[in-house]
Amino acid sequence: MAQTVTLIPGDGIGPSITDATVRVIEATGVSIDWDRREAGMAALQTHNTPIPDETLESIRVNRLALKGPLTTPVGTGFRSINVALRKEFDLYSNVRPARTIVPGGRYEGIDLVLIRENTEGLYSGVEHYVGIGTDPRAAAESVMIVTRFGVERILRYAFEYAVSHGRKKVTLAHKANILKYTQGLFLDIGREMAKEYEGRVEFEDRIIDATAMLLVMDPYRFDVIVTENMFGDILSDQIAGLVGGLGLAPGANIGKDAAIFEAVHGSAPDIAGKGIANPAALLLAGVMMLQHMDEHDAAGRIRAALEATIHERDSLTPDLGGSGSTDSFADAIIRRL
Ligand code: NAD
Repeated sequence: MAQTVTLIPGDGIGPSITDATVRVIEATGVSIDWDRREAGMAALQTHNTPIPDETLESIRVNRLALKGPLTTPVGTGFRSINVALRKEFDLYSNVRPARTIVPGGRYEGIDLVLIRENTEGLYSGVEHYVGIGTDPRAAAESVMIVTRFGVERILRYAFEYAVSHGRKKVTLAHKANILKYTQGLFLDIGREMAKEYEGRVEFEDRIIDATAMLLVMDPYRFDVIVTENMFGDILSDQIAGLVGGLGLAPGANIGKDAAIFEAVHGSAPDIAGKGIANPAALLLAGVMMLQHMDEHDAAGRIRAALEATIHERDSLTPDLGGSGSTDSFADAIIRRL
């Protein structure tokens, strides 16, 4: 039976990379009904809001969405759409795999996954100024909130991810040496939970700054990294850099009731409409979605076809050094499926 997936083409280069991604996924023969919905600037024009209720309702019903990049209107008072979606569906786990595809880069053979807590920590939104004397902004406070509930579910997700994806090790990156309460709680719960996985998943904990250095000096020692919100925000771009930047970086936002898959990059207004956007990051997000749907055969075939297309430098887009287009790149992948 076909599964229905909410498809949000998004803004800028979004519609063209979404079309290319859908074409490749459909060429595998997987049966998906795409429920196309608007969000972002596209929705602002038609629905007078960047996140129409019908789009939210579609995600609520289908529980799965593939999303093109959305332009966040600047200075209009609209909140970030991506943050709003994360909150609406309590998408607590942000999963960012980093795997070398383009040969000849700084590192070969990188294959690691970062799992970032997506709802708590310093991004809880508890911030204020403290006025002293005549200065209303003499000081400022941002509160790092860490709950046992939030920590347990992200760590559980990381360990279970390791088990189900055949990963060997989980590294918990923290700052418990300084932030003894918030980070200490994270670390204590991690050490305790690790005992349940003894013999199945190796566990280590590392201080965040040392983790950042080791990621550059010897990224091969890492497998799955789990960390709190802000550390994860920073490390996830760092690991994208290890494998050649954002052009090939997919991401998944996963909650109990819904999962949204997307490219890490934005709507690239500078190249929108030129037909040269690289569809690979969104396609890799589609591969993550297929894995989430247990369509492992289709996921594996797309990844292999994409890797072969890149290795043979067939019809690649200009950002990968080719002279092809979004469509010619997608066609070359489809030929190899
Ligand atoms: P961007 O990622 O859109 O672009 C940065 C640079 O990378 C540009 O030069 C662009 O041409 C290039 N680039 C990005 N994706 C590419 C692709 N697939 N193929 C080839 N080149 C590509 O970042 P930005 O310019 O800072 O942001 C533009 C808009 O996107 C903003 O409104 C921002 O809020 C939004 N944004 C959305 C998301 C999301 O929806 N997840 C993420 C980041 C930014």
